Amino acid sequence: MRRYLQADHKAVAANARQTPGAWILAAIYDARMTGQSVARMVRNGTTAAYRPAESFDAYEAVHDGGSVVWVRYVAGLDVAPMPDTVTVRVPDYGTQPGYECVCIRTVDISSRCRRCGAPRGPIRSHTFVKDGDRLVCDVWENDCGHQDDYRFVLAEARVLAEGNRTQRAKSPKKPLIRGVEGGRYAAAVDLIAELYREKPSLRALRVLPHVEAHGLMEAAQVIRYFVGDSATGPHTSARAAALHLIELDEETRRAAEAEQTEWQDGPIGCGREATHTTGDNQ
Ligand SMILES: [Zn+2]
Repeated sequence: MRRYLQADHKAVAANARQTPGAWILAAIYDARMTGQSVARMVRNGTTAAYRPAESFDAYEAVHDGGSVVWVRYVAGLDVAPMPDTVTVRVPDYGTQPGYECVCIRTVDISSRCRRCGAPRGPIRSHTFVKDGDRLVCDVWENDCGHQDDYRFVLAEARVLAEGNRTQRAKSPKKPLIRGVEGGRYAAAVDLIAELYREKPSLRALRVLPHVEAHGLMEAAQVIRYFVGDSATGPHTSARAAALHLIELDEETRRAAEAEQTEWQDGPIGCGREATHTTGDNQ
């Protein structure tokens, strides 16, 4: 039986009305699709708490727990729509040990925190001097408290760019390892794919510290069990671990799709388990 982490939409809407323009975490769901349809229902006022239509803005994003919906009250406010991506200048120190140089890369990343889906930023310029050169990059602090590490930002940008390229090329010849969209382990898969791209012989045990450093503890545990059960033991490759995580997420997605059909017939929040609600952030 799948869990549905439902919000108290009345409370979320009331909270949002009190702080017009501020994004408020409304709900966390297991499946991306569920979050996406809830965000739509908030925007178009299908959900009674958010009427009249278009008085609330909403978006869905990846969350450590699956899929998160953020809402804000916008009636009578002249607010710009939130873009899905932002362009930032990031220092790249390279991956070679002892490599001291730095170059500034201009990359696109999600406008939302990869851990909780809260808006990133605000972004501001930062000037620093390296070996006599004056360099400018961007810095930002996330209000949610999840701070971004430039290495992961670069990895995220590469995955995003690669995904865009793949989508454009639609080349079936070069299957790229990517997390299942909205999958519980998508962030871990994307991270492993990035590490593995740089070093194809990488072993699963070597990526564990990276996965843990990124706060993806559940994925790390799954990998540990997978390596333990695997006939190749400590020699199990990072790629095999990533494929295993993808398999688990695809299994969940298939189950979710089967239930989604049934779920769309009914109103939100009726007859489902209500275990999670939060609306007091920001
Ligand atoms: Zn966050």
